[in-house]
Amino acid sequence: MRILSGIQPSGTIHIGNYFGMVKKMIESQNDGELFAFIASYHALTSVKDKEFLEKNSYEAAINFLALGMDPEKSTFWIQHDVKEVLELYWILSNHTSMGLLERAHSYKDKTARGLVASHGLFSYPVLMAADILLFDSNIVPVGKDQIQHVEMTRDIATSFNHAYKKEILTLPVAKVDEEVATVLGTDGAKMSKSYNNTIDMFTTSKQRKKQVMSIVTDSKELDEPKEWENCNIYNISKLFMNEDELKDLQKRYLTPGEGYGHFKLTLLEKIEQYFKPYEEKREYFAANPKKVREILEFGAQKARKIASEKIKEIRDIVGLI
Ligand code: ATP
Ligand code: MG
Repeated sequence: MRILSGIQPSGTIHIGNYFGMVKKMIESQNDGELFAFIASYHALTSVKDKEFLEKNSYEAAINFLALGMDPEKSTFWIQHDVKEVLELYWILSNHTSMGLLERAHSYKDKTARGLVASHGLFSYPVLMAADILLFDSNIVPVGKDQIQHVEMTRDIATSFNHAYKKEILTLPVAKVDEEVATVLGTDGAKMSKSYNNTIDMFTTSKQRKKQVMSIVTDSKELDEPKEWENCNIYNISKLFMNEDELKDLQKRYLTPGEGYGHFKLTLLEKIEQYFKPYEEKREYFAANPKKVREILEFGAQKARKIASEKIKEIRDIVGLI
């Protein structure tokens, strides 16, 4: 069974990415053959800054390695090192209807948030389909926002297989953990790198404090009892606390005398404790860029071997001889 996962270096990796996808991806190394890549081509849809893209690509690599990505067991690379994906993207574009892409929620959300409505952003799901289909992936662990893209991949693959009367492309299945399908950001909307509403996984204490303190709440005063159900602080706390800790927090919401600032500081401490065990390894990779580059190149070689065989098969089928 092949599992495929990608993350865009479009900003710093946040706790929404972590619980929605990264955590499951790392764990899945024991369930099957993991293919994981840093989606640098995809990030070009939102990033137009060389230094920013380079920095975040590197950060994504060291974060994955720190969290337990095993480059021997899995195949771990950066997207632009395996160019076959672009050829497949073009071939698949001819099996993708405009109507299908026009229905994409992610495109609508991003353009509504001010991202330029470029052709790249519009055709993002076709490149994602190419990523998935190039490796005959069976399972794609994602957050809720990406389910539709995996469904589009199935549609595109079905249309391709139908056109050439052969089951050449493998239909993937999205795997979503319902409990963390959408982690909400500091403003209560989906946490996204490009929305400026994130709490980052690894960052300076100062920056993390700033992010946690910016969580939006209602305006209840210290001496009023508060509701936890729809509170952004509580919802994020759920990811980091066990049941007893949550019960305790609920009591604090009901007892007048404490304000949201206190709940935020409790959460901040929990987040810091949670990611602390990975920091040493992260620092090791941060200090060894050459080693990181070697690991990614090793992964790209493994990925290219599979990709070049698959693209050859596809070329033959479509008549690109
Ligand atoms: P961007 O804003 O640039 O699209 P992003 O934060 O949405 O960035 P992606 O790289 O697009 O991150 O997505 C990486 C993975 O993280 C995907 O599987 C996606 O479903 C998941 N993910 C992203 N945001 C969340 C979230 N808020 N909750 C749960 N999962 C998420
Ligand atoms: Mg996204």
